[in-house]
Amino acid sequence: MSKQQFQTEVSQLLHLIVHSLYSHPEIFLRELISNSSDALDKLRHLSLTDETYKALVGNGIDSPRIDLDLDEASKTLSLSDTGIGMSEEDLISHLGTIARSGTKNFLSQLSGDDRKDSNLIGQFGVGFYSVFMVADKVEVVSRKAREEKTYRWISDGKTGFEIEEVTGDAARKAAGTTILIHFNDEGAQYANGWRLQEIVKKYSNHIAFPIFLTYEKS
Ligand code: ADP
Ligand code: MG
Repeated sequence: MSKQQFQTEVSQLLHLIVHSLYSHPEIFLRELISNSSDALDKLRHLSLTDETYKALVGNGIDSPRIDLDLDEASKTLSLSDTGIGMSEEDLISHLGTIARSGTKNFLSQLSGDDRKDSNLIGQFGVGFYSVFMVADKVEVVSRKAREEKTYRWISDGKTGFEIEEVTGDAARKAAGTTILIHFNDEGAQYANGWRLQEIVKKYSNHIAFPIFLTYEKS
């Protein structure tokens, strides 16, 4: 298990997001589903254009889909895709630093005035980190296409994250990413199957891949 600190800009952004500069926490689901859709697009593209990926279809690459599995009682939501996945390096750089120029730009425009800044965050979109509006712990388990190993990234969205290799039954059989959200008090309202279904319809109707939602009633 290795512990790492977030890049300063990430901590700044997380602080901003969590201290409710954004008034619609439900958008976390739109952001995560859009990331899954991007990951599925990337893998589909590679499997059509690159022989080494073509060979994996049906044998190391599952059919493209997004699965949401909610456990109302334990207030956890798992969001799983069969997309390109992330390696250990990807998890560190994509989820621990801000590589996106849009976000850097966003941070540079912050005024310190909450009202102005909350408009800004709405315009830019906050991506993956928006999940920390509704979660006090997030686990990302991922295996990158053409790689053997599965890694788990865990964070409370405060100072940093931990990374470890996942072995045995918990390791992924095929490429893709599973995000396990442990809802916080603010997020508890989303530990409800009907509510999630509404949010998926509202924001993710245009997604080109099948989205399956299952839930355990509490
Ligand atoms: P953006 O989608 O604008 O790049 P995000 O904060 O939403 O920014 O995501 C950051 C990065 O993390 C993505 O660009 C991608 O590389 C990686 N990522 C996030 N979710 C997934 C996923 N489900 N599968 C593969 N990569 C992902
Ligand atoms: Mg995104």
